[in-house]
Amino acid sequence: MPIKSVDVGWQVSEDESFERVVAKGTANATPQWGHSVHVEVAGLRPDRWYWYRFKSCGELSTIGRTRTLPIVGSDPDRLRFAFVSCQKYEMGYYTAYEHLAREDHDLVFHLGDYIYEKEDSSQAVRPHHQPECTTLDGYRARYAVGKCDPHLQAAHASAPWIVTWDDHEVNNDYANAVSEPANRYTAEEFLVRRAAAYQAYYEHMPLRRSSLPSGADMLIYRRFNFGQLAEFSVLDTRQYRTDQPCGGDTVPPCDGELDPAATIMGSRQRDWLFNGLNQSTAGWNVLAQQVQMARVDFTAGPDLSIDMDKWAGYEQERRLLLRRFRDQPVENAVVLTGDSHENWANELVPHFDDPKAKPVAVELMGTSISSGGDGEDKPEYLESLLADNPFIKYHNNERGYVHCEITPDSWRTDFRTVPYISRPDAPVLTRASFMIESGHSKLNRL
Ligand code: FE
Ligand code: CA
Repeated sequence: MPIKSVDVGWQVSEDESFERVVAKGTANATPQWGHSVHVEVAGLRPDRWYWYRFKSCGELSTIGRTRTLPIVGSDPDRLRFAFVSCQKYEMGYYTAYEHLAREDHDLVFHLGDYIYEKEDSSQAVRPHHQPECTTLDGYRARYAVGKCDPHLQAAHASAPWIVTWDDHEVNNDYANAVSEPANRYTAEEFLVRRAAAYQAYYEHMPLRRSSLPSGADMLIYRRFNFGQLAEFSVLDTRQYRTDQPCGGDTVPPCDGELDPAATIMGSRQRDWLFNGLNQSTAGWNVLAQQVQMARVDFTAGPDLSIDMDKWAGYEQERRLLLRRFRDQPVENAVVLTGDSHENWANELVPHFDDPKAKPVAVELMGTSISSGGDGEDKPEYLESLLADNPFIKYHNNERGYVHCEITPDSWRTDFRTVPYISRPDAPVLTRASFMIESGHSKLNRL
């Protein structure tokens, strides 16, 4: 693009053929913001489909479909959505998105790792040929490569997306101003890189002006209500967390794991979340977030190892939240998680010392779109974890996405997987399905 501003016309229509255009305007795409536009359309009617398109420099865009949320206080009888995460471009084809885009979803949640910042993996199936992203131009170039993928484009055009980030939009396993490896930058230097990464993320994602970055800060935790049916609290567990304890890997716990000053949300976000839960009248209270909340012991037998980059590395805050669910019950707490590149279904108990305690929430973890390459279903891995972690109800290591359909009475989850991504055109199959009945934090395998 030239280093000058460009006008972008936009239209929103009630029909796919744009005969009933209900809103239109012109946005200004500036080089300062990567020639992106973020149009906030007022005056649309609630709970219905709309179609939109753009025109600029004589070119007409393809058509996207979106949907408005139901009006506050209304009682929708159904919501269908998908959630996805982790799409390391060079590791394989976005076949999962090809299938996702063909389904009828009211919403799509992206739970982080939309890009990966590093140079090509040695196992690249389709290399991007770029060095590690460290500058605004570098991050922008990585989004540009990914966004040329036709299946990702189709998925965006099929439904509105609600996005949050994890670590790889900036730097693997970073924690607030602490980079990985920690000695690579001073905090000041790392925040310069973080500012570039956050800006590129904002430019390329469907985010409102309320998320406009200011230097190295960007507000992305926020709340959505699908009428009275469901409330979604979208979290940011990267920007405000304290550094991972015990060296940060999957290791035996050290004192830092139980440090009461450790936080994965930061105190402001935690207060915002708890206040929201206190006021919620929704039938399903959903946290859409990044990292595993179940405290999993990854070493079979008496030895114990915990992944310190997850909620378990911030055990006091994890307990605080789960005890909040136990002691001041909200309706049907469900946690949606990305990051692990594996499908999991977990029942969450308030304290790991009592794994047989009554679960207070359910955690659904979605696998990756492409990170990790072709996977395989390994039931024996779950078998090896179960003795130490009886709350795990499902595990699978294939690529795909998660489809959910919720009503006031029940929540159905389908783990959709594709058998390979190292070449295109894989079929999709439903690997496992679970039902949660309202009022019971329990996973029932279908
Ligand atoms: Fe990832
Ligand atoms: Ca163990």
